[in-house]
Amino acid sequence: MVDLKSQYEKIKPEIDAAIQEVIDTTTFVKGPIINTFQQNLEQYLGVKHVIPVGNGTDALQISLMALGLKSGDEVIVPTFTFIASAEVIALLGLTPVLVDVEPDTFNASIDAIEKAITPKTKAIIPVHLFGQCADMESIMKIAKQHNLYVVEDACQAIGSVYTFFDGKKVQAGCIGDMGCTSFFPSKNLGCYGDGGAIFTDNDELAEQARVIANHGMKVRYYHDLVGVNSRLDSIQAAILNEKLKHLDAYIAARQAAADFYDKAFAGCKKIKTPARYSKSTHVFHQYTLQIEGDRNALQAALKEKGIPAMIYYPVPLHLQKAYKDERYQPGDFAVSEKLSSCVLSLPMHTELDAEQLEYITANVKSLLNE
Ligand SMILES: *Cc1c(COP(=O)(O)O)cnc(C)c1O
Repeated sequence: MVDLKSQYEKIKPEIDAAIQEVIDTTTFVKGPIINTFQQNLEQYLGVKHVIPVGNGTDALQISLMALGLKSGDEVIVPTFTFIASAEVIALLGLTPVLVDVEPDTFNASIDAIEKAITPKTKAIIPVHLFGQCADMESIMKIAKQHNLYVVEDACQAIGSVYTFFDGKKVQAGCIGDMGCTSFFPSKNLGCYGDGGAIFTDNDELAEQARVIANHGMKVRYYHDLVGVNSRLDSIQAAILNEKLKHLDAYIAARQAAADFYDKAFAGCKKIKTPARYSKSTHVFHQYTLQIEGDRNALQAALKEKGIPAMIYYPVPLHLQKAYKDERYQPGDFAVSEKLSSCVLSLPMHTELDAEQLEYITANVKSLLNE
């Protein structure tokens, strides 16, 4: 699904030197490279504050903590997503309120969000699934109307750009009150371990998130808040600082692979290629097909041919054992349930060449008799 080895080999001297420098200075935690990377990322995104943390899940949790949400507060989140988006809501004793998604973009349905709002609703977590922004113009409008916070889960969408009605362009994760990303190795900007970050233009929320991520401590050993310990290691920051220089090229490589896939599958009746949403660029964390017919058999047959293909996600949140809830029954979120039964993500990374793409697409088509 990914080829991190070939990607590393192309920038090996820079990466090795950056890692060596951290080792030479032995500033493994809170080294100066953290600040450098933070500033470079702020500049890239055009956001006032980047707060590096331990991983994307922590970024989401710390954001919700920074907003001061209390037990019983409701947070709206799509049911078709990676578990982390809802996990942190549950962990903090907040109430996840699930909504269905759009069948073409896989992102939260605006209609469903509006219907899910109650007097207890405090926040919305839009997930920019697979690398394309949700309908943020509508979400921000709803949030303003109902006085709700918006925390974007941009873990799959760093570098994606959203264009508002007035022409204003904003980076994914920098639209809502807070945005979160993950630097997990296979993410679009991946480090060589775990990492994550929070984005915000709000000075107070930034300060609050920084304090929470550092044991709730402003002055050393004086704890004003209950916090956590969540930080990006200096070695990871050094790697990310080098890789950030290549992020635009990495995105372009993913988009080129997606274009190849799109063209190859055009006209195939049993294959629905991922929709492009006019207001957002797509950075293709995943290239996800909807298959008509036996999706599982296709996945197994591709595996036989040496082609990995993955199901993101096989079970929507409301049908997960840990998230069983009397409020939700099978059938309640028809689109998400349908997607779980038909989606198939093909290999997507920065190093796919024409020969590989040709091999993958030819096999997918012939296995479906297309
Ligand atoms: C990867 C991911 C996360 C969590 O990031 P980690 O760094 O693995 O904790 C959260 N939400 C989504 C949508 C993700 O894809």
